[in-house]
Amino acid sequence: MVPQQTGRYNRRMTSEKTAAIPVVLILSGNDPSGGAGMAADIQAVTALAAHPAPVLTSLTVQDTVNANSVHPVESKLVRSQAEAILADMPVAAVKIGLLANAAIADEVARLLAGTSIPVVLDPVLVAAGGAQLATDDLRESLLQRLTGLSTLLTPNASELHSLVPGSANADEKAEKLISLGARWVLVKGADADTDDVENGLYNDAGLYERFSWPRLAGTYHGSGCTLAAATAALLARGAPVPEAVAIAQQYTWETLQQAFSPGRGQPIPNRNFN
Ligand code: PLP
Repeated sequence: MVPQQTGRYNRRMTSEKTAAIPVVLILSGNDPSGGAGMAADIQAVTALAAHPAPVLTSLTVQDTVNANSVHPVESKLVRSQAEAILADMPVAAVKIGLLANAAIADEVARLLAGTSIPVVLDPVLVAAGGAQLATDDLRESLLQRLTGLSTLLTPNASELHSLVPGSANADEKAEKLISLGARWVLVKGADADTDDVENGLYNDAGLYERFSWPRLAGTYHGSGCTLAAATAALLARGAPVPEAVAIAQQYTWETLQQAFSPGRGQPIPNRNFN
């Protein structure tokens, strides 16, 4: 057994005023491998000491190798699940993962338009194994309807390119997303061709902070979900965006460093190590 540190990430920050466990409303799809999607989100939110309120947007048929199919939940049913929680609990942050189609994204946008809850939007379009998870119309709805409601958007390099096609560089593409109303954008570079993993955090003044992480060998199933959900939990606990993003990256890097391979495909982050 490798000795593991305990309680490092779910220890409460000194700035936290109450002992209440804040609620994170999670809208994402189910990945039955448990590597990505809702299971990943629940584990990360729990590890970061917040309470997950899970609203399923879709079911997927997939394993650790790739996704075979996506089955969206009826958009009104997504909305009524979320409405029930918003009416019942003081939701302190929202984490959005796979929405699967534009009808679902539009319902979620309508629902969140009237609130001031911090929203972390992970624009999931493609599975880690390369399979398409979203219909083409989702891209446009994410841009036109949900980007403007986001406190933080977390595209990787290929999602950034898909949301903002063309030859502009990453700084310009991030600025485009900010001009559409996202308060902050974290561009993740795990899928870019660099020695270290370079992530850039942007706001309306441009690049705010660049983070560099030693590149771990291989690719993982559920790393983006882990990072976005951990950030949402920290925002729910009252951390400012730059601090939440920094701690969530450190947590995610450690889950990847301790990843395990329960299936034949990609390793899964060990989100329960602490
Ligand atoms: N959400 C679901 C339901 C998925 O199936 C996937 C990938 O397979 C993702 C999100 C994104 O996964 P990752 O965190 O690896 O980007």
